[in-house]
Amino acid sequence: MPAHSEHPANAFCPACGSYKINVVKKYICDDYTHVRRRRCRDCFYRWYTVQEPEEIVPPNYRVVYVEDELYGQITKVVKS
Ligand SMILES: [Zn+2]
Repeated sequence: MPAHSEHPANAFCPACGSYKINVVKKYICDDYTHVRRRRCRDCFYRWYTVQEPEEIVPPNYRVVYVEDELYGQITKVVKS
């Protein structure tokens, strides 16, 4: 299931390794691929990430928001 890992590869800056990144803009392509424009708050490097079309969260999973020291508030998909 899409149980997102706590430290996804796209959660840090490819230039300086900082975890303080913002999503500046989101785009949705014709095939529903999600493209995100990201910006590092430490070195201001900008880059794009791409995500495959989204999956439906099955009924036996739920979405929760957790405070994280490194990331601030993060979203997790957990099994109920
Ligand atoms: Zn950076």
